[in-house]
Amino acid sequence: MNNPQSELEYIKMQTRAFNKRHMLFVLLLIITAGLLIPESLIIPVKDATKSDWNHQSFWYAPWGKSGVHKGIDIFASKHTPLLSASKGLVLFTGDLNLGGKVVVILGPKWRVHYYAHLETISTSGFSLVSASDSIGTVGDSGNAKGKQAHLHYSITTLLPYFWRVDRTTQGWMKMFFLDPHEKLTEDSI
Ligand SMILES: [Zn+2]
Repeated sequence: MNNPQSELEYIKMQTRAFNKRHMLFVLLLIITAGLLIPESLIIPVKDATKSDWNHQSFWYAPWGKSGVHKGIDIFASKHTPLLSASKGLVLFTGDLNLGGKVVVILGPKWRVHYYAHLETISTSGFSLVSASDSIGTVGDSGNAKGKQAHLHYSITTLLPYFWRVDRTTQGWMKMFFLDPHEKLTEDSI
C-alpha cells in the first residue's frame, strides 16, 4: 500500500516541475514573439538625413565620462521634433545627470532605444508609440549644455550578442550596444 502522504508529496513535486517547465515555455514564447516583431527604423529627428551625424562617432574613444561614445549624435536645431525611431513601449522619461531629459523606449527584438539631451519630452511612461510619433524636441540638456543642440541616440539589446565583442576600449559592451548608424542606414528608406 502506498502511503497517501507520500503520494500527495509526489503529486506536489510533479506539479512544481510542470509549473517550472510551463514558465520556461511561456518565457521562451514571449522572447520569440518579441524577436518576430518586425523592426523598421526611421531617422529619429524630423527632416534629418544621414549627413546630420558623423558616421564614425559610434564607439569613438576617449569620450567624456563614459569613456566610449556608445551612440550617435544627430545634429539639428533646438526645438526640432524628435520622432520615435521604432514602434514600442515607453519605459522611462525623465532627467538624468549626463543625458539630461531622456526618453527610453523598448522596441521590437528586445532592443532599447535611448534618446538624450532633449529640450522637451512629449510622451510618458508606459505609452505605446509608433515609428515617427513625436516624443519630444531636440535640445542641449544634461552634459550637452552649451554645446550644439543634438540628439544622442543609442540602441541596446537586452539579449547579449556575444559574437560582437571585440578588443576595442570597453569592447565587451558591444554585446549590448548596437551601432545606430549601421541600423539606420540598413533599415531606413
Ligand atoms: Zn552622444
